[in-house]
Amino acid sequence: MNTGTILRAGVVGHPVKHSRSPIIHGYWLEQFGINGRYDRYDVKPEDFSHFVKTLSEQGLQGVNVTIPHKEAAFLALDEATDRARRLKAANTLWFENGKLWGDNTDSIGFLANLDQGHPGWDINAKSALILGAGGAARAIIAGLQERNIEKITIVNRTRERAEELALMSGGQVAVAEWSKLSFQLESADLVVNTTSLGMSGQPDLDLSLDPLGKNALVTDIVYVPLETNLLKQARLRGNPVVDGLGMLLHQAVPGFEHWFGKRPVVTDALRHLVEDHITGIRA
Ligand code: NAP
Repeated sequence: MNTGTILRAGVVGHPVKHSRSPIIHGYWLEQFGINGRYDRYDVKPEDFSHFVKTLSEQGLQGVNVTIPHKEAAFLALDEATDRARRLKAANTLWFENGKLWGDNTDSIGFLANLDQGHPGWDINAKSALILGAGGAARAIIAGLQERNIEKITIVNRTRERAEELALMSGGQVAVAEWSKLSFQLESADLVVNTTSLGMSGQPDLDLSLDPLGKNALVTDIVYVPLETNLLKQARLRGNPVVDGLGMLLHQAVPGFEHWFGKRPVVTDALRHLVEDHITGIRA
């Protein structure tokens, strides 16, 4: 029976009304029978600092942070994990011994999604091609470096942004021209779309996968639609594919554990529930 204080957490962003995180955490709260809540907080950039300073007064155990606050969240922390420090951005905040901690779980989510969707993908993956150089690309490159992928190449519409990211990522990260994408595909073992191209309401990613080897893994972190045209093209030519929904589900695990004290599991039932919301079967 649920008695006592309600444990509360949520997601803060601007805008935040389309966030699927409440569905995920709400599902786990129910599964564990925890007396808790997980809500959306739409907070403008100018109000973010006050929001974070008053988390505890608002009765929150912590929050997920989404666009555009991940960098500001990092700056507001008392303590950060090595990963958040490396990325200078945090998406999961919690309290520990009275201090506000932050981590960046996007790279955890990205890796766990590939591990679940295509087990052993990193055993023979030597070369990764990253399309895009935004916040998500930053986290994904850090994840690939943790798995010792030898060669990482970034291709971005705005080349300077790719160069900045390569510099920040250190190690063996190269930059190539967007117009030479086809050539880069020839040697890629893993292709990751981290741009917003292909997302519903956005232009499509106009890319022929013809030069790509048939064993190369193709993944897209866009998950609306669940199967982007990039993934469809890859699937039809026989490449292994992993969609982006699992990244969203897996990145949520550490936050739930910090706030509610139980480590949840990403199951097919949860995935189907979120899929139903994306496809409009559930509102
Ligand atoms: P971001 O920081 O705004 O970066 C956006 C990226 O997309 C940049 O590289 C940008 O290139 C590129 N881009 C945008 N419009 C373009 C166009 N018309 N042509 C070519 N490139 C274009 O965003 P983000 O946080 O990295 O997120 C990127 C996408 O990943 C979003 O769709 C987001 O919803 C999704 N995402 C999914 C997950 C998940 O859990 N599955 C997690 C995080 C993000 P420029 O630098 O040239 O502008």
